Amino acid sequence: MNIVFVASEAVPFAKTGGLADVAGALPRAVAELGHEAALFIPCYRKVWDHAHELIGTGLSIQVPVGAATVRGHVFESRIPNSDVPVYLIDQPRYFDREGFYGHLGHDFDDNCERFVFFQRAMLEACSALGLRPDVFHCNDWQTGLIPIYLKTLYADVPGLSGAGTLFTIHNLAYQGLFWHWDVPLTGLPWDLFTQQGVEFHGKLSFLKAGLVYADVLSTVSPTYAREIQTQRQGAGLDGLLRERRADLRGIVNGIDVDSWSPSRETMLAERYDLDTVETGKAACKAWLQGHAGLPVRPEVPLFAQIGRLDPQKGWDLLAEVADRLLQEDVQLIVLGTGHPKYHDLLQSLAARYPDKVWAYLGFSDELAHQIEAGADVFLMPSLFEPCGLNQLYSLAHGTVPVVHATGGLVDTVVDLTPATLADGTATGFVFGEPSSSSLWGALARVLDAWRDRETWAKLVRAGMSADWSWDSSARKYVEIYREIARRKRPEPATRDQEPSRLR
Ligand code: ADP
Repeated sequence: MNIVFVASEAVPFAKTGGLADVAGALPRAVAELGHEAALFIPCYRKVWDHAHELIGTGLSIQVPVGAATVRGHVFESRIPNSDVPVYLIDQPRYFDREGFYGHLGHDFDDNCERFVFFQRAMLEACSALGLRPDVFHCNDWQTGLIPIYLKTLYADVPGLSGAGTLFTIHNLAYQGLFWHWDVPLTGLPWDLFTQQGVEFHGKLSFLKAGLVYADVLSTVSPTYAREIQTQRQGAGLDGLLRERRADLRGIVNGIDVDSWSPSRETMLAERYDLDTVETGKAACKAWLQGHAGLPVRPEVPLFAQIGRLDPQKGWDLLAEVADRLLQEDVQLIVLGTGHPKYHDLLQSLAARYPDKVWAYLGFSDELAHQIEAGADVFLMPSLFEPCGLNQLYSLAHGTVPVVHATGGLVDTVVDLTPATLADGTATGFVFGEPSSSSLWGALARVLDAWRDRETWAKLVRAGMSADWSWDSSARKYVEIYREIARRKRPEPATRDQEPSRLR
């Protein structure tokens, strides 16, 4: 099979969150299963900052964007440790900026135009490069128009006409909503701007376009696939998702074990595996405490959080329990950026508990690895979580996660109970309700378990023993690609078949 992945970010080129981790790893895993894979992302300023080896393809493309024609260039690189080509769509006016989607908390005003350009440039480049994919694997709203383009404006383009589409939802909360006067920018006819099409409460929705027109839909855990079909978590799209439930799959993300294994990470004070976890993790913890300016004390449980400082991640619950937790003999390290009110919260906690709290309010990939290795407990009380990667990174590092029973968190962490402790499956702490009392209940259980060294060692070892590599998830994606390709095979026409413009 020949699969073209399209995403708005991918490690190591450009990353704001988990989507980048997936887009940088899944194409390689699919290629390792014997398929052809290629990846398209925008060529942001950050890509140049990191001086990845980029080679000009010499390909210049003319892309219609509204009434204008915008020229783009295509650079080529490789996903590290693989032969998977990465094609970077370059147009400085759109992508040579600080930030990928916005700056200083504000979305760019021209995001519709930027990502119309990206998607159409990708299709033009794909055709010009002769890639001939069986399936376009599209990810999140920035790629949501591709399925409809393939069924309309690009339906007869050589090399593209036989391709099917998979649209993966990494987070339903981000929808790519634009005012209706942006419709002409897309080049799509107004008659698609309907409730059955790309219109969502009077606006143009890129995400909805993907959900309506892709051949198959997926999201990043089975539980989230069910949750988004409910009114509570469907972000207004649950009705549509219920209509398409026969085409909706849930596949848990894997982790890139080359990058996220404590036995391989070069930035750690000491590398470790299951045999050396006790001494190795102790060395990483001591390094982290020292780096953070906290007392270097092996006996104190070190709690950590890494991620976007956003209400989604349960920061309001954490704010409510923070003082109570910090009355205990604990330490807390946070790495993140986001909402100013959480920056204020963390700065205030660090000022009030200087011997217990350290917050690094920025983005640092290196520090993220060092925290995963050095911490004892990872806090992930997300209100909703499509998959979540940090709890998987934590498990791989013997850092015990505390998670809310939602989405991918409940699919990947096994709560500590007498039964799961006895059968060796317990890997963390799961709490049921998104309330501070429920979270506190879990934290109290953490503190109890921490005091029982045998129980703690069992949790650590069970987490580290699980296999979260991409292999099994990549096989599930390949099954979907095959199904899409089967569906695309031309059926013999029957007399009473309705000619359809879109399907
Ligand atoms: P989401 O995609 O919703 O942000 P995930 O848990 O799926 O959440 O993935 C977040 C990814 O982004 C992880 O790889 C995490 O380590 C990384 N990350 C988030 N914030 C930061 C930060 N401030 N510094 C370094 N890495 C970060």
